[in-house]
Amino acid sequence: MLVELAIGDAYGAAFEYVPADVVVRGNTVAGYGRHPTHAGLEPGHYTDDTQMTLALAELLVDGVEWTPLALADKFVEVFHRDPRVGYTSWFHAFLRSVTTGREFLDRISPGSEKSGAAMRVSPAGLLPTVAEVREHAALQARVTHDTAGGVASAEAAALAVHYCHYGLGPLASVASWVSAQTGVDWTRPWTGAVGSKGEMSVRAALTALTSARSLTALLRECVACTGDVDTVAAIALAAASRSAEVARDLPGVLYRGLENGTYGRGYLYDLDRRLLAAVAPPVTDPAQLHGSWSDSALYLGQMEAESVTFDPDGTGHFLWKNVAARERTPFAWSLVAPGRIRVGDEVRPARIGRGTTATGEDTTVLTLGEDRYGR
Ligand SMILES: [Mg+2]
Repeated sequence: MLVELAIGDAYGAAFEYVPADVVVRGNTVAGYGRHPTHAGLEPGHYTDDTQMTLALAELLVDGVEWTPLALADKFVEVFHRDPRVGYTSWFHAFLRSVTTGREFLDRISPGSEKSGAAMRVSPAGLLPTVAEVREHAALQARVTHDTAGGVASAEAAALAVHYCHYGLGPLASVASWVSAQTGVDWTRPWTGAVGSKGEMSVRAALTALTSARSLTALLRECVACTGDVDTVAAIALAAASRSAEVARDLPGVLYRGLENGTYGRGYLYDLDRRLLAAVAPPVTDPAQLHGSWSDSALYLGQMEAESVTFDPDGTGHFLWKNVAARERTPFAWSLVAPGRIRVGDEVRPARIGRGTTATGEDTTVLTLGEDRYGR
């Protein structure tokens, strides 16, 4: 999800508020373009949408409780460790001028209706329940966008991810489902250029999502809206990347061309996997574990593989192997509490949820303490 979101952001950034005829000529998905006027925005580099999304994803991965202070600290941290252009100029100047979350909260005027709270919210959509999704989306929105439009657009963008990730219905019904959860009508299709309000980019993203069949076609459609299209594309691609109905057909040139520095492509891939594992629901029924799980599909090119098997009679084993050796370690196991299983002498946290393999295929992932296995 994070990689596709960043591709939407980086591709769309070259077209943000660019005249329509330039968009028509350049929107070919044949590579990353350069924005005609934003100096310093390199082709293939993502912007504020992705950077602030990383903040929320990292809080979930690290199991940090979302409070205004924790959120503000993280927004400050991700900006200062990797300063970049692409933020609105006043917010860029604001972030440069604050060094702690406390200072951020003391000085921010959170009265904006703009899209900032919606563009970064997608990780919250992966949480297991609608109530948790809405609560987290609204909480993070209020730090910077404590307005009806700011909060509603963040909730809607997060719920679109939730609907796709948990396969709650056909993609054609995503906007009506989001409307039913929130009591806000999101079904009216968006037409025309997208302005800076959160309601606009979310409505445009939901409109494009409703008929999406392919990530490439979706990306082009988002950018063809014109206006604040990096945000539309980031919101739409995050949700669509979690939908089984949408072909993951983004051209290789967009993956290869995505920035790959410290917080670039490789970092996004890794964080994505850890995020999906972190938000997976805890194991509540021993039968969920029955059978064999292997880490071989989750990591590319590793020289060894480990699998774990849970038999219904309460026995099981780990099997570790490389080209030269194999080692079988039997154990007894039981579910001691929701999300906690005893394996041999050790009690480990256990979660099962949707994840992706190293090659981007859907799979079910078991997270057992620090270890992850798929099947
Ligand atoms: Mg942006």
